[in-house]
Amino acid sequence: MKRTAFFPGSFDPFTKGHADIVERGLKLFDEVVIGIGTNQAKKRHFSLEIMEGVIRGAFNSDPRVRVVHYHDLTAKVAKDEGARFLLRGLRNTTDFEYENTIAQVNRQIVEGLETVFLITSPELAPISSTIVRELHAYGVDISDYLPYPLEKLRS
Ligand code: ADP
Repeated sequence: MKRTAFFPGSFDPFTKGHADIVERGLKLFDEVVIGIGTNQAKKRHFSLEIMEGVIRGAFNSDPRVRVVHYHDLTAKVAKDEGARFLLRGLRNTTDFEYENTIAQVNRQIVEGLETVFLITSPELAPISSTIVRELHAYGVDISDYLPYPLEKLRS
């Protein structure tokens, strides 16, 4: 049976920190499905189309990486995508506190759905979507933080 992991997030934007989790996840799983979750109430800074372009560019259309968009319960979507595992990254204790609760709830929603955590690579630990979004809003070049340059998507 294929081992599929579902990697959920807002990915606004998808950063080098996220790409690192996917790359390392590919050593554990046959397939990683990146789920871009959009909260109806929250307006995105980067469009879904642009983020999908960044992800495709970063993984060079690797057939083991798929991208989906969703607006539903993460655990339910993971199950529908054929994933028995959720993949998440941990940077610090704040991430841990949050993830701990979410993982318990997700396992209650879908029995047996295991969350697998990968500890961040230290050099990528300071990268957060919130900070990258803020820098971009102030016109700072964010190419160092993304796994694929935005400029290439426009050309
Ligand atoms: P969410 O809105 O669900 O927190 P994010 O898009 O911010 O989603 O992050 C998705 C996942 O990636 C989370 O598990 C988060 O902890 C992890 N993550 C974010 N940045 C990094 C990083 N620099 N290194 C490792 N994991 C990260």
